Amino acid sequence: MNLAKFPRVRLAHLATPLEPMPRLTKLLGGPEIWIKRDDCTGLSTGGNKTRKLEYLMAEAQVQGAEMVMTQGATQSNHARQTAAAAAKLGMACHILLEDRTGYNHDNYKYNGNVLLDYLHGATMEHRGPDLDMNAEMEAVAETMREEGRSVYTIPGGGSNATGALGYVNCAFEMLHQFVEMGLDVDHIVHATGSAGTQAGLITGLKAMNADIPLLGIGVRAPKDKQEANVFALAEKTAEKLGCADVVQRGDVVANTDYVGPGYGMPADDTLEAIEIFARSEAILLDPVYSAKGAAGLIDLIRKGHFKKGERVVFLHTGGAIGLTGYTHCFDVPK
Ligand SMILES: *Cc1c(COP(=O)(O)O)cnc(C)c1O
Repeated sequence: MNLAKFPRVRLAHLATPLEPMPRLTKLLGGPEIWIKRDDCTGLSTGGNKTRKLEYLMAEAQVQGAEMVMTQGATQSNHARQTAAAAAKLGMACHILLEDRTGYNHDNYKYNGNVLLDYLHGATMEHRGPDLDMNAEMEAVAETMREEGRSVYTIPGGGSNATGALGYVNCAFEMLHQFVEMGLDVDHIVHATGSAGTQAGLITGLKAMNADIPLLGIGVRAPKDKQEANVFALAEKTAEKLGCADVVQRGDVVANTDYVGPGYGMPADDTLEAIEIFARSEAILLDPVYSAKGAAGLIDLIRKGHFKKGERVVFLHTGGAIGLTGYTHCFDVPK
């Protein structure tokens, strides 16, 4: 496999830091916890989509596109990073936003990621829930193509085999850091949604024969569906890289016990995780993804699934700008 043969445009500040979390480790009394800071990828408040966009935007440029189009939930971090990448590369960006939560607060609808989409010059249109959003997007793209525009469409979350290459690269980056820092890591944990992050990571880890279990904490789909989605994308990614079959079905593990009321809707343990990380390590999590991942990490430590004597790396996938869209969830004293 040779990642360097795929076109790539530099958008992220890499390598992102890998740091210990001594106060959180002490607080929970279990394994030594480290954090991989993909919230610090640098592009318009950062996050995991920036690594995927390095490969997706390069492919758009190779195809001669003047516009990129994508879709996501109202407070989509992926839409915001795509809008930022397009601005930086001088391309137009059009976004379809899906009302997946039914939240009617002004901050949810216009602040956070939505504000940044606007500031980066993206045009937006809205859809109700329960539609096939990738099909909606392709229909809009087709109309624009008939008008003579060259449009490159990016699926939700940037999760196809091209986008997943960004997380193959992240797996290599982490393994290199583990070697440089002399860290023997027992587990890697992160939030999993549209599957590209986990699919890329597991492909990279398996291609390097790393033997470090990867656990995705789900934010939407039930376990069977989430694992099937990740595995299907990992197979495509491995094939694209020329190492087909490197990932086995059993390598793909998701725990979906921390989804709470639904996608984009925080549970009590989601909000608790935000406060624990903010107060013990000054790390800001987001209520849609990273805090659900962290809630899973915290609970699995409390239950003894991750134990003293082990070392766990939590991959922070970003999203904290979304907090400003969720002010209704926090009781700030007046
Ligand atoms: C998109 C996203 C995820 C999930 O990554 P996928 O590749 O979609 O599974 C996790 N955290 C944040 C902050 C995200 O924006």
